[in-house]
Amino acid sequence: MTTVRERRAKDGLEILLCDLDAFYASVEQRDHPEYRGKPVIVGGSPTGRGVVSTCSYEARQFGVHSAMPSAKAKQLCPGAIFLPGDMARYRRVSEQVFAIYERFTPDIEIVSIDEAYLALPAGKGLAAAAEIHRTVWEELNLSLTIGVSANKLLAKIASELAKPDRVGALWPEEVEALLWPLSLEMLPGLGPASVQKLNRIGITTIGHLAAAPFDLLQKYFGKSALTLQRSARGIDERPLEPFREAKSISEEKTFSMDLADEEALRAVLMAQAESLGYRLRSGGLRARTVSLKLRYADFRTITRDRTLPAPTDRDLELYQTAIELFTIHKGRPPWRLVGLRVSGLVSGQQISIFDSLPAEKKEMELEQVCDRLQDKYGGAVVYRARRLLKPPPEID
Ligand SMILES: [Mg+2]
Repeated sequence: MTTVRERRAKDGLEILLCDLDAFYASVEQRDHPEYRGKPVIVGGSPTGRGVVSTCSYEARQFGVHSAMPSAKAKQLCPGAIFLPGDMARYRRVSEQVFAIYERFTPDIEIVSIDEAYLALPAGKGLAAAAEIHRTVWEELNLSLTIGVSANKLLAKIASELAKPDRVGALWPEEVEALLWPLSLEMLPGLGPASVQKLNRIGITTIGHLAAAPFDLLQKYFGKSALTLQRSARGIDERPLEPFREAKSISEEKTFSMDLADEEALRAVLMAQAESLGYRLRSGGLRARTVSLKLRYADFRTITRDRTLPAPTDRDLELYQTAIELFTIHKGRPPWRLVGLRVSGLVSGQQISIFDSLPAEKKEMELEQVCDRLQDKYGGAVVYRARRLLKPPPEID
């Protein structure tokens, strides 16, 4: 046992894959006690052509799963509670979870809204995982699965094996005993077509793949053969990509009824600008380009961009740019959808020649106060007055 630990210590790092369980559905069950213990399905309406985005474990018992048409989910589980979902709220909760991870390590690669890889010094992974699991439950009441190993691939598989609500490890020295007996579907990144191809040449377990003659794999998989066989052997040298940044960040709202009121639409744009500004600042990013998306009553959809003189992370600059674009391209009301996107992201703090002007300074101070409140309380606690003029319409 000590030899194993010593060997791992030489390798330097341990990787945790932290994956929130049935994330959107869990947030809904947490925030609405009446949904607890019941099948909850977040996604498209069962009367439309939408699909299931996330479903609670209670719904999974009926055979419901992600990406299934909502209408089919309704057939399988007629008693399910269908919810349209609230991405802005899930994103805020996700940021609270990631803020907990940051207490344990600065080396984080965000994979998606509910999934992140963390790197910790060798020997510390399991203890940190247990502590993170406990903290996320105690502070946020969310259940989380964590896979621990020496690389990303094995950490991911460990989490798949541990789901839900547990910490599990799969170390390289356990690959032969624990990974090789598993069927090929358990190997991340191996699609159904590849599994079929392998099955046809008699390879049905990960162990078969690990032991297969390389020439044979090369004949069928060409250049991917090497990575494929290395994966089956538990080898993965991909580094964490902590600085991998989103290429763009966007907010979008579809109105349940076409919106003809220009003031209300401006209020939505203000909310979107504030949300994007917050997300930029909390990621230490600024954006060069602002894009406005509009869908008119006849479903015609346009996207129009404007590149700023200098990258910004300021709510008001984003809002003013959006309004300029809107004024030019608003067409004839009503509108069905409005979206705002920022792209051309660069990292670093805002340097502005206006920083010394009193009005500008006040605006930045206001943003800082709002951001701190948002960090602390999760929701957008403080709104600029424009958002209160008219309550923004509900999402579909
Ligand atoms: Mg998840």
